[in-house]
Amino acid sequence: MTDVTVVGSIFMDLICYADRLPKPGETLGGTDFQTGYGGKGANQCIAAQRLGIKTAFVGKLGKDAYGKEYYENFLSEGVSVEGITLEDNVPTGVASIMVGTDTGENFIIIAEGATKLVTPSYVKEAGEALISSSKLVVCQLEIPHESSLTALRLAKQHGVPTIFNPAPAVSGLPKEIFQLCDHIILNETEAEIISGLEKIQDQLGLEQAIEKLKELGCTNIILTLGSDGALVWDNSRKSYERFQAPKVKAVDTTGAGDCFVGAYAACIARGDELSTAVRNAIANASDSVQRKGTQKSFPYKIEIFLIDC
Ligand code: ADP
Repeated sequence: MTDVTVVGSIFMDLICYADRLPKPGETLGGTDFQTGYGGKGANQCIAAQRLGIKTAFVGKLGKDAYGKEYYENFLSEGVSVEGITLEDNVPTGVASIMVGTDTGENFIIIAEGATKLVTPSYVKEAGEALISSSKLVVCQLEIPHESSLTALRLAKQHGVPTIFNPAPAVSGLPKEIFQLCDHIILNETEAEIISGLEKIQDQLGLEQAIEKLKELGCTNIILTLGSDGALVWDNSRKSYERFQAPKVKAVDTTGAGDCFVGAYAACIARGDELSTAVRNAIANASDSVQRKGTQKSFPYKIEIFLIDC
């Protein structure tokens, strides 16, 4: 039996660094180039798998050099790959990233490639058996939205609990998507877009955003707050709880949210209480920001249980 099935995106990150970002039309000499394994779905799957649970992934790669390399990455991490297809005649999805090291700002273009072909029918065909035999299903919004909805519907039909990370966020999602998720995990920007509230400033604003999410049909709501940890609405206790993150020296926060979602999923799948899962997710995500890279920075079975934070 699989603990967690993740239905989502796989992107190869191609990162060029320069002293500053180029202007339109300008060719600029860079200072460094790196590739990295990315895509929110894949990141969350790897973060969960590294905590010692069994994960499976449903998604697509191109049958090209990046696709083959990424497939090997899933295998070497121990993820079940029967839900992953390498497609002919389509490139693996890439995120082309430029970073200006003077300000740390970036430009990102995502070319979805094979990830765009993760259609609702593919999710049903390649994912239903995995979903129905899992303890938990996780999805985001980097595949066609109808496909995430399909994954959530299939999970519900089979009585499997779900986690939804509405990222990248868009407004106007169908209400059904919120009603189908047992846990929604989102950051402040995503909460603003989905709730329709302008710049959230304080605890009151955060609680107003959560109230909007409840109106949409969400039950357990986890709002991540970067170095400030998380604010949680626990539906079984009908109460808010604030969780602090440990003070750490953050060197790269890319993928922190994905690390959080993956660790939270691993904890819920093995039966942790919601509050324990949040504490562990914070511990893992806050550990990851102390190292460079995305998947590269995710901890292996760190389990900083009930860290005093
Ligand atoms: P996202 O990466 O989606 O924007 P957040 O910035 O809210 O998400 O971060 C997710 C989690 O990562 C936080 O709840 C926290 O545990 C951890 N985290 C992020 N930034 C920091 C930081 N500067 N110091 C400590 N923990 C951090």
